[in-house]
Amino acid sequence: MSLKRIAVIDHDKCYPDKCNWLCQKKCPVNRAGQDCITQNTQKMKAVISEPLCTGCGICPRICPFGAITIINLDIDFGEPIHSYGENQFRLHRLPIPKKGSVVGMVGRNGTGKTTAIGILAGQLIPNLGKWNENASYEKILETFRGKELFNVFTRIQKKQLAVSIKPQMVEKIPLVHHGSVREVLHRINPENSSRIMEKLGLTPVAERELKQLSGGELQKVAIAAAALKNADTYFIDEPSSYLDIRERLRVAGFIRELAGEEKSVLTVEHDLVLLDFLSDTIHLMFGEPAVFGVVSAPHPTREGINTYLEGYARDENYRFRDQPLRFMEKGGREYKKQQSLLSWPAFTIKQGTFTLNVEAGKLLTSQSIGILGPNGIGKTTFIKAIAGMITPQEGPLPQRMPVAYKPQYLEAIPGVTVEEFLRGKMSPSMREAKHLLIEPLHLPSLYEKQLDTLSGGELQRVAIAAALGTDAPLVLLDEPSAMLDVEQRIMVAKTIRSIVDHTERTVLIVDHDLMFMDYVSDNLLLFEGDPGINGKVRGPMGMEDGMNGLLKQLGITMRRDQTSGRPRINKKGSVKDTEQVKSGNYYYTKA
Ligand code: ADP
Ligand code: ADP
Ligand code: SF4
Ligand code: SF4
Repeated sequence: MSLKRIAVIDHDKCYPDKCNWLCQKKCPVNRAGQDCITQNTQKMKAVISEPLCTGCGICPRICPFGAITIINLDIDFGEPIHSYGENQFRLHRLPIPKKGSVVGMVGRNGTGKTTAIGILAGQLIPNLGKWNENASYEKILETFRGKELFNVFTRIQKKQLAVSIKPQMVEKIPLVHHGSVREVLHRINPENSSRIMEKLGLTPVAERELKQLSGGELQKVAIAAAALKNADTYFIDEPSSYLDIRERLRVAGFIRELAGEEKSVLTVEHDLVLLDFLSDTIHLMFGEPAVFGVVSAPHPTREGINTYLEGYARDENYRFRDQPLRFMEKGGREYKKQQSLLSWPAFTIKQGTFTLNVEAGKLLTSQSIGILGPNGIGKTTFIKAIAGMITPQEGPLPQRMPVAYKPQYLEAIPGVTVEEFLRGKMSPSMREAKHLLIEPLHLPSLYEKQLDTLSGGELQRVAIAAALGTDAPLVLLDEPSAMLDVEQRIMVAKTIRSIVDHTERTVLIVDHDLMFMDYVSDNLLLFEGDPGINGKVRGPMGMEDGMNGLLKQLGITMRRDQTSGRPRINKKGSVKDTEQVKSGNYYYTKA
């Protein structure tokens, strides 16, 4: 089959007056006399003819501003459902909501999830790729006659499909909505707001103003607000952000109940243990961010997530990642040359009215330690104590040692570029060994950008590189998976593992994404107690003991998927769940 070309030009980066139409001058097809690269009618931006382009790859390389992306595809995804314009992003196909079901979507950000939802919500009339023609529902119905989406579009056209959306960026909500949690939710649905607040554990903060809430509380208010609207389809975008594992499970149960009320739910989630637990079916989203996106046919959840991890969609014959992500049978690895790095005696720390008791422990070199526990249990306090940033009230000081620390909340220094920032933080040897950090975290394309113009996910990757790239023997990463999409989480998890393998460094990681933690951790530190009141730290201990302890606290059991080795939550009350609770083996046994 012949190659199909996709050419996309980022208009925000195309400045012909600064480059004097360099791409047009150098394109070999233009040089041979054809109009492959032309100038738009206002002579302001380059235009590439996809039928004429041979995909030689010269123009993306020479454009001084990185405005051009050319993709050669040896697979035909058919006509797009929507294109934003000539040489702009296009989306192929749509997810299909199902009454009484949670339909999950998994894939990279920028591959068209919001576009798809805008279409299903009737906010965007899709143009079937014909960006220069008027879009209409008549044309769409003609195209989808006899297909599953015909009924969906008929209802959208008649405005009979009400969609309620939980947006991704919950932190923006207090800028738009004002009042206490109770007032805001009552305004949406006075009859049910108290019941929904109770279900989501919001009652204790009901009288608080939205602007006083933590990220996790705002997330739950946003989910409550979306659920309280009377709709047919609920789109819940990234429900897990800012929530600890217990709260993730609570929210997942809540979303499942919503579908149980004969509603259809579409959800995007990058925590794959949660997505697996939540969804009845899965659409994979693949493609190239900001270039093109493809929505796969619906897969059964287990197989869909395994396909995603494998990086190869068999039904499309399309490989979207070079390497699969595989999990080890037992978790944790053994290193022969590990030495003692740091040890601490039992100590106690008080922060206001909160007390943290830490039992004696030690760290070895070449080790990655996962830190698990709910929000407000003292994980940050412990990290700061180990880093020597705060002093225990009882017990001797832990030894001081150079520590690199990536905090949970990232601050972008204005007026500094990514390259300048990383030059100041990373050791020369780590900057030179580009294959260890710089390339896997896709940082070169960000070098010229100012830190305060980065997206949350971009800033997260820069901050992770800055911490892992120092000479410090101990690195502490607080919530590295936050704001990253599933593909970036996979990339960061692999990067942390390879840094531990190659540099004998010890990395401590606080995170609530269980699959990420299972992949990245050799040992675990477990935090227990009453959030906000007292906490107790146990470990480091082996993965088995640590996971057993955590899952027992949460009241769930897990197994490993036989094909991918990834962790999966057992259905409550299933044979496996009952057996594992009985034997005390809450941690993964074979599926
Ligand atoms: P996701 O929700 O998966 O992150 P979106 O559907 O928001 O992705 O966007 C996919 C891509 O479409 C974006 O990366 C952007 O480049 C492009 N895009 C979105 N809206 C527009 C628009 N109005 N005009 C041109 N391009 C757009
Ligand atoms: P985690 O990282 O597990 O979410 P933290 O270590 O941040 O937990 O906080 C544990 C508890 O200590 C919380 O109840 C928090 O409000 C309290 N706390 C943390 N720092 C201070 C401080 N400087 N003054 C008073 N209380 C604090
Ligand atoms: Fe110049 Fe790049 Fe625009 Fe071409 S795409 S005109 S090389 S800025
Ligand atoms: Fe021309 Fe296409 Fe080559 Fe670019 S990739 S230089 S548009 S032939």
